[in-house]
Amino acid sequence: MKALESAGSVAPDLVVALVAFRQWSLAGGVLTSVYDGAPWPEGSISGRCDRGHAPAEVPAKDCSCGIYAYYDPCPRTASAATPDLIGGAVVVWGRIEAHIYGLRGERARIVALELPLSRGRKRREVIEAAEALGVPAVPHRSLKAVALEHGEVLAPALRPKKTLTRAANVWNRLGPV
Ligand SMILES: [Zn+2]
Repeated sequence: MKALESAGSVAPDLVVALVAFRQWSLAGGVLTSVYDGAPWPEGSISGRCDRGHAPAEVPAKDCSCGIYAYYDPCPRTASAATPDLIGGAVVVWGRIEAHIYGLRGERARIVALELPLSRGRKRREVIEAAEALGVPAVPHRSLKAVALEHGEVLAPALRPKKTLTRAANVWNRLGPV
């Protein structure tokens, strides 16, 4: 509940916030979504829809709106080759739509960023971004444990075994980003 209270919000559908993982682009000290390029501000972010769903409807069924995150941390090497790609953990709350590998949520807040393997400019930028957000920057091996201080993972029993159609499965379309 700590995460919910500090975000100044209540969770209408879930008792606890869900822990999930994703990546961002980090350039010039600004974190942006790898999905749509939208900046991620300090504090909580609400999912938006560019197909007309009202904020109260996001994430809408049969739409791609909402905030995306994976159930498991992105592989340690996933962001290593790209200078501005970084990993981290979020808590997601409000309405949730569960997919095979991850979820779409109504609201989210970053709880930790992942330190890159390399030392140097990228590492310094991640540390600065984490300080600006007021969250820790931690090694990959610690990311999940640190995130679990803020919420719970979605129980595997509540995750769909498969989605209805390939077209409806945004995770296929987006690929492993
Ligand atoms: Zn929508």
